[in-house]
Amino acid sequence: ARLAAEEALGRLVRDVPDFPQPGIVFKDITPLLADPEGFRAVVAALAEAGRDADGRPVVDKVVGMEARGFIFAAPVALALGVGFVPVRKAGKLPGETHAVSYALEYGEAVLEVHGDGLVPGERVLVIDDVLATGGTARATVELVGACGATVTGMAFLMELSFLPGRATVGDVPLTVLTVV
Ligand code: AMP
Repeated sequence: ARLAAEEALGRLVRDVPDFPQPGIVFKDITPLLADPEGFRAVVAALAEAGRDADGRPVVDKVVGMEARGFIFAAPVALALGVGFVPVRKAGKLPGETHAVSYALEYGEAVLEVHGDGLVPGERVLVIDDVLATGGTARATVELVGACGATVTGMAFLMELSFLPGRATVGDVPLTVLTVV
């Protein structure tokens, strides 16, 4: 699964220079999403981050961040047979929320999670497409913690090696399918 995923990412992620701002090389995953074999391989490889050596799920929930995290986290949750919980931008969730403000590679924002979205003590796998500065991932770890749950793993399609995402996230087991 891992090799097929790496191959798919190499072939089906498009670099878009200077989007959405000058100096940013945007990783466009839409060609990957349009390719069912590639998409399936990537989801399967991400789901491995939520299993033990015998293939048994070792997480209680999968959390994905708006918007591209949703696309991968939801099918990973189904593959593992556990629930999916969305982390959303400010003002989108209708219930009581925890909120954390964070810095992006480009800009700043607030993320929220439903206060009852995770049960205290749950083990959580966090999924997103790109680990860049790590601000989004770190804010998500804080939100999971605010619910009394624990991030036991994070998985990304791509890590941008020239940014300090890994250090920003800190002491959480990290799976990245490709380093770019
Ligand atoms: P960060 O908080 O800096 O780690 O940024 C991570 C979030 O921003 C992820 O949800 C990515 O989808 C998005 N992102 C950051 N940099 C890029 C990039 N170069 N290409 C595509 N998405 C990016």
